Amino acid sequence: MFETVIGLEVHVQLNTKTKLFCACPTSFAEHQNSNTCPTCLALPGALPVVNKEAAVKAMRLGYAINANVNHTSTFDRKSYFYPDSPSAYQITQLTKAIVQKGEVFIDLADGTQKRIGMTQAHLEADAGKNIHEGDHSKVDLNRSGTPLLEIVSDPDMRSSEEAVAYLKKLHSTVRYLDISDANMQEGSFRCDVNVSIRPKGQEAFGTRVEIKNINSFRFVSQSIAYEVQRQTEAYEDGVYAQEVKQETRLWNVEKGITKSMRGKEEAADYRYFPDPDLRPLVVTQAMIDEAKIMPELPDAKIKRYVEELGVKKDDAGVLTSTKELAYFFEAMLDSGAQSQNFGQLAQYRASRSSQKSRTHYCYFSCLCVQARHIGSQD
Ligand SMILES: [Zn+2]
Repeated sequence: MFETVIGLEVHVQLNTKTKLFCACPTSFAEHQNSNTCPTCLALPGALPVVNKEAAVKAMRLGYAINANVNHTSTFDRKSYFYPDSPSAYQITQLTKAIVQKGEVFIDLADGTQKRIGMTQAHLEADAGKNIHEGDHSKVDLNRSGTPLLEIVSDPDMRSSEEAVAYLKKLHSTVRYLDISDANMQEGSFRCDVNVSIRPKGQEAFGTRVEIKNINSFRFVSQSIAYEVQRQTEAYEDGVYAQEVKQETRLWNVEKGITKSMRGKEEAADYRYFPDPDLRPLVVTQAMIDEAKIMPELPDAKIKRYVEELGVKKDDAGVLTSTKELAYFFEAMLDSGAQSQNFGQLAQYRASRSSQKSRTHYCYFSCLCVQARHIGSQD
């Protein structure tokens, strides 16, 4: 009776050596506020300079997902005050992002593929961190100015399964491209989920609720399920207009519910305007050439494994699910193993994919060694 509509905004922390607008290192610093300078502390008179490495990494994602890479893009200021943002604005790309209109293909349970459109991917600077201790709080600006790539999807997903499949595909793609470590526990790959429902057949979207800052595939799935149920019940009880508001909600892991955090701001609330300190970012031919250097991506690998190595399609999907596994598989083939012996290993990996223990990876490695042994005897 109802259809779920989901769009995702994914924040990927780019693994550049230095911050987006200054030469401070992005590496983990032992001492708070030690990786800082006048620019990322927002001291008066300090001027930002765009990090070319961040731009090239954003462009590389663009080329990988068949997007338009704009040869000229611009930076805007998004005004808001938080203690961890000393400039009282974030530098982002609202009007002309570096990457626009891409696509990601996800595999559905029935064996077909679905295209998920990508609206844009833009560069922006991360904020610092507030650390709350007892009755006081501290601010650490080591992270202030770290480059983020925000990847905004079209509202093309219709279930939590599709949302998770899209996220996994994007996660694996940025890791293959080596533009981010995409460590979800550390927040290098986190997402905001926009979810609404509408009666089947209705074209107009329902009221969109944003669930902020989720850093696990499981929580994405659970929070969508909760929201869909909450919104459906409100609709059926005749209180949809009162209960479902355009707002930002947070996922409460312990209680398994979403809770209202604040009303959703409109773009006008942020008083966006072009950053007067930054000229448009114009990419050079050298940057384009560098961005186009990329490894073989999962879809191409799956095709090659199936067509050239005789691996079953499902197994190929498992073997390419992480770049470590794929590179390991290829290294084993290089050292004489037979690809056919990996079917059982892939199935084992698939059956254990919900577990993240080291043990299963070790066990998998042992099986691979066994396979090589078998392979070398053939
Ligand atoms: Zn700095």
